Amino acid sequence: MNVPAPPAAVPLPNPFVAARFLISGAKLAQLPRDDVAEAAFVGRSNAGKSSALNALCQKRALARVSKTPGRTQLINLFDVGETARLVDLPGYGFAQVPVATRNAWGELVGGFIERRLNLRGLVIVMDVRHPLTELDQQMLKWCAARALPGHILLTKADKLGYGAGQATLSKVRKELDGLQAPFTVQLFSAHAGTGVEAARDVLSAWLGLGRRADGESQT
Ligand code: GDP
Repeated sequence: MNVPAPPAAVPLPNPFVAARFLISGAKLAQLPRDDVAEAAFVGRSNAGKSSALNALCQKRALARVSKTPGRTQLINLFDVGETARLVDLPGYGFAQVPVATRNAWGELVGGFIERRLNLRGLVIVMDVRHPLTELDQQMLKWCAARALPGHILLTKADKLGYGAGQATLSKVRKELDGLQAPFTVQLFSAHAGTGVEAARDVLSAWLGLGRRADGESQT
């Protein structure tokens, strides 16, 4: 007797392919005042934030705009349809940056995370080999101060073997549990595609884009 093959898994639609650059702002006051839901990305320079945004949106160079000289200290907004937005916040990691620049960055990024009413959640991008730096912890504190969900992408997971990746994941998860805030964490690799779907699920849930909402992902 012929047993019919099970139906092939149908890939879920990716709402983030609709992402389009909207505007850059050097001050909070320059950003649109409306009630479009936003999810923001932040992380140490070189942690893989642009690659993560591009992978999520299936674009080769969505976040290139954020790398344009002069735009690196700006907040860059990308519309995802009419009801949601992704926000690329300026990165950190200034070994030799003047104090004034560092303070200006803190005011802009801290102000955005603490006061932007549109914000539904913050994605904190960390290189899986160097998670939870001092400034990463500052991001978590700003998030926790307003009980905003924070989701950590441990990027470049392809650089570690399976066991080492899982060990880092558990260690970071344990530290987050101690903070008693709505934080989740997952492994991610823009290059290998690891965790991209799981991250889309989290963002879709925050932004009301109607995919399944798993919360904490297991990858
Ligand atoms: P950003 O400064 O945080 O926006 O980081 P980028 O996305 O520009 O990435 C910084 C560097 O890390 C680049 O050389 C990328 O090719 C590399 N990179 C980013 N994501 C991955 C990844 O998933 N795996 C590996 N192996 N390298 C990555």
